[in-house]
Amino acid sequence: MTAYDITHHTYDVVVVGAGGAGLRATLGMAEQGLKTACVTKVFPTRSHTVAAQGGIAASLGNMGPDSWQWHMYDTVKGSDWLGDTDAMEYLAREAPKAVYELEHYGVPFSRTESGRIYQRPFGGHTTEFGEGPPVQRTCAAADRTGHAILHTLYGQSVKHDAQFFIEYFATDLIMSEDGQCQGILAWKLDDGTLHAFNAKMVVLATGGYGRAYFSATSAHTCTGDGNAMVARQGLPLQDMEFVQFHPTGIYGSGCLITEGARGEGGYLTNSEGERFMERYAPTYKDLASRDVVSRCMTIEIREGRGVGPNKDHIYLHLNHIPKETLAERLPGITESAEIFAGVDLTREPIPVLPTVHYNMGGIPTNYWGEVLNPVEGDPDRIAPGLMAVGEAGCASVHGANRLGSNSLIDLVVFGRAAAIKAGEVVNPNEANPELNQASLDAALARFDKIRHADGAVPTADLRDEMQKTMQSDAAVFRTDKTLAEGVEKMKVVAGKLDDIKVTDRSMIWNSDLMETLELTNLMPNAMATIVSAEARKESRGAHAHEDYPDRDDVNWRKHTLAVVDGPDVTLTYRPVHLDPLTTPDEGGIELARIAPKARVY
Ligand SMILES: Cc1cc2nc3c(=O)[nH]c(=O)nc-3n(C[C@H](O)[C@H](O)[C@H](O)COP(=O)(O)OP(=O)(O)OC[C@H]3O[C@@H](n4cnc5c(N)ncnc54)[C@H](O)[C@@H]3O)c2cc1C
Repeated sequence: MTAYDITHHTYDVVVVGAGGAGLRATLGMAEQGLKTACVTKVFPTRSHTVAAQGGIAASLGNMGPDSWQWHMYDTVKGSDWLGDTDAMEYLAREAPKAVYELEHYGVPFSRTESGRIYQRPFGGHTTEFGEGPPVQRTCAAADRTGHAILHTLYGQSVKHDAQFFIEYFATDLIMSEDGQCQGILAWKLDDGTLHAFNAKMVVLATGGYGRAYFSATSAHTCTGDGNAMVARQGLPLQDMEFVQFHPTGIYGSGCLITEGARGEGGYLTNSEGERFMERYAPTYKDLASRDVVSRCMTIEIREGRGVGPNKDHIYLHLNHIPKETLAERLPGITESAEIFAGVDLTREPIPVLPTVHYNMGGIPTNYWGEVLNPVEGDPDRIAPGLMAVGEAGCASVHGANRLGSNSLIDLVVFGRAAAIKAGEVVNPNEANPELNQASLDAALARFDKIRHADGAVPTADLRDEMQKTMQSDAAVFRTDKTLAEGVEKMKVVAGKLDDIKVTDRSMIWNSDLMETLELTNLMPNAMATIVSAEARKESRGAHAHEDYPDRDDVNWRKHTLAVVDGPDVTLTYRPVHLDPLTTPDEGGIELARIAPKARVY
């Protein structure tokens, strides 16, 4: 093996990732005087959060009555009763505080006539515990909300003296013999140096793994690196079978048209010009939750009512909305429709198709962001020294299906919660324990092996094979047959990682090596997803199983845990947290309100 010079760094906290979750955590840690480093493979403001369009949910009630209890109810129902109740309560309660905080940090929200934060309707957000009309709960900065949040949080983090390590690629966790996370190994992309970070707390905020699929709205950098780093330590990933398809990716490119477009009055039609959502979801129509709308679109296409020469997509209409409203509320997607579909949306409909958008599953945590390493008898055991927040984490607030605009709020609420917790458990006056050399050596050996990989399969070919298998066999609708075949195919695909070929051996700006490292990260995510999906014999949220069309709360209201070892995946389960944080006497929600029932919109 090549001998590498390692530069050592010592911090109280190392946050990996500078998207909304990583930056909110970094800011919160630094604010409390913890010596904090933020390590990121892309420039902070290029993280995928920058692409978030529609907005961030919080029951401010600026546009009509709203309450955190209604928000909590909608989140529970949206999750198809798989979310952890304590975490969902924490999210809904803390949301208004977190949004006002963003406002005070300087996020330029759109405004109402009277100067309050503008809020728009989004799918699955209702009043009166699902019995009243849709609510306007999604706070927006036009259709560039993520952009506004990310730039503001980055500025604030710099102001509080957090140290940024930009274009550093974290490769692996470093763990002590007894399972304490001690830090990370990172590769500096522009000069090829290697860096070991020693920290009392490592926070993974590495985002989702949309790129395990062929057509995704997520950035090419969304490769589930943090999830894979955890998996390589033998720790489980949770609820990976739940992959959200967004109803409106632009046909062909997969580029997103925000749900805010339907929030502002947009609607879907089939080849007969019919507003078919009225048939499936009589009350909330085009604003039913995402899994529901994606399935209805897929059914329309399958039954021959798709549009276009191949009848393989659906139209989204915004052409009835006044031009001024489009210019003010949806300027970004007006541009996207023109660039990616060649459509002037003030005159014609946009061709759209359900496209992979979000990963409900990820690294299991409690609602403080602490990573869980469940064992028999202790399903909530904590993995010391390790936290996960944002799309990489699974608290779990989204359960089997995430409501639109509930991710951005998850980033800031749990980024902030992780910082509060770290303030309690990390002692800045204590010395850091010495790094476990054996663990560091193992990380170096893996890096070196991949760098010199000289097999027969080029990275791009294997990635393509993985993405297409996932796209066809772990899709919107799943059957025993497609899943079983998919698992077998994916085992072969994952096995081929041993025969991968890297052609560039240099250490500086080696995109071949970086993409290969990313592929080794996507693979365990994909394996966990398809194996967990094959095992779940019911339909719930985004997991629509044609052979088991109903939800089965008796046998399946439980979280899947997947431990991945190359092509092998071992599954166990842990119970869903059913108890809220507060009782009705303390202002909390009544249990009867959130008891499972049929999920209709
Ligand atoms: C097009 C689009 C629009 C969306 N719109 C909305 C919306 O309107 N409302 C909403 O609530 N949600 C929306 N979502 C979902 C939401 O934006 C994402 O779930 C969220 O932004 C993820 O944030 P994050 O901080 O977890 O990760 P990301 O923003 O993806 O950031 C990940 C960070 O991790 C770093 N990283 C990753 N791997 C490594 C590594 N190996 N080493 C070092 N650094 C690493 C990256 O550099 C990056 O900084 C949207 C998603 C997409 C794709």
